[in-house]
Amino acid sequence: MNNFYDISKVIQKYNNFLITSHINLDGDGIGSELAFYFILKKLNKKAIILNQDRLPKIYDFLPGSDKVHYLNNDRINPKSIDVGIVLDCSNIERIGRTYEIFKDIKTIINIDHHKSNENYGNLNYLDCSASSVGEIIYELIKFININLLDEKISTCLFTAIMTDTGSFRYSNVSSKTFGVASHLTRNGIKPHLIANNIYNRNTYPGLKLLGEALLTLEINESSCVSWLTITRKMLNDANANDEEIEGIIDIATTLNNVEVSILFRETKDNKIKVSFRSKGNFNVNKFAGKFKGGGHPNAAGCLCSGKLDEIKEKILSELFKEIKSCEE
Ligand code: 5GP
Ligand code: MN
Repeated sequence: MNNFYDISKVIQKYNNFLITSHINLDGDGIGSELAFYFILKKLNKKAIILNQDRLPKIYDFLPGSDKVHYLNNDRINPKSIDVGIVLDCSNIERIGRTYEIFKDIKTIINIDHHKSNENYGNLNYLDCSASSVGEIIYELIKFININLLDEKISTCLFTAIMTDTGSFRYSNVSSKTFGVASHLTRNGIKPHLIANNIYNRNTYPGLKLLGEALLTLEINESSCVSWLTITRKMLNDANANDEEIEGIIDIATTLNNVEVSILFRETKDNKIKVSFRSKGNFNVNKFAGKFKGGGHPNAAGCLCSGKLDEIKEKILSELFKEIKSCEE
C-alpha cells in the first residue's frame, strides 16, 4: 500500500488530473471528488471531475457542483490526462462506463475505505478505519498543507462524512470522525444548512414513491429481516426518478427488532439492484459478496440480472439460511 507521501509526490509531478467515483454517486463520492478538485486547483493543477451519470439534484448546493461532468455531455481524451483519481470504489468496475476513459490513463490513484478494495490503482491508499473517503481526504490535506483547507472544501468534506455516517449514527463513526467534523466546522461551514440541503428537499413524487415503497414492506420476524420492493411501474406511476430512491432503504432499517433490511429495485437497464443494511453484527458486505457485490459490514449492495421475483426468492432464502446458521 502507498502512503500520503507517495500520493503528494505524484500530485506535485503531474499537471492534468481526472477525478471520478462510483455509479449511483453518493455524498461521500461527490464531496470527496470536489474537495480533491479544489485542492488540485489551489496547487495550480488542471482537474476535471467526470462521473458516469449526471449529478443527483440533492448535491447541487455544493460549491463546484456546476463543474461536475458526466458521460455523454463531454468527451475527454485520455491522452490529455496524466493521472486518474478514483475515489470510494472497492473495484474498478464501480466507476461504470467512465472506465472506457480511465483504462487508458497511465497512472491511477485509488483512495478508498472499503475493506474489500482490490488495489487496482498504480497507487493505492486504503483506510478501512475511516468513516468515509472524505475523512481520508481531510488527512491527505493535513499532510500536504492544512492551510489549503477553506470553507468550500470543508463544506464538501463535511457532506462526505455526514452522509456516509448516516449523520454520525453508524458504527463507522470514531472519535477521529468527530475531531475532523469539529475542525471542518471551525472553517465557517453551517452543518444545519448542509443537512437541510441533503435531507429536507424531498420532492412530492419522491415522497409519493416512499409511500408506495412502504406498502410493499415485508418482514420475516424469526430472522429479523425486512424488505421493500420498487418496480419501474411504481417509479413511473409516482412520476419519480431513480435519484429519489436514495434514503428509502434507511427507513426500513428503523423498524424495531429488524437486524437486516433489503431494498430490491428494478433499474433503468433491466437489472435488479439490491441494497442491504444491517444494524447489528450481520456482515452484509460479506453476504453481498456472494452475489458479486460488496460495500461495508453495515451497508452493501449488489447488481443482479434476472427476474425480480426469482432474485428476491434466491437472496431471501440464502439470507434466512445464513442468519439461522449465525445464531446456531
Ligand atoms: P447502496 O445500497 O446505498 O447503493 O450502497 C451501499 C454500500 O454498498 C456503498 O458503500 C456502496 O459502495 C456499496 N455497493 C453498493 N452496490 C454495490 C455493488 O454492486 N458492488 C460493490 N462492490 N459495492 C456496492
Ligand atoms: Mn464511502
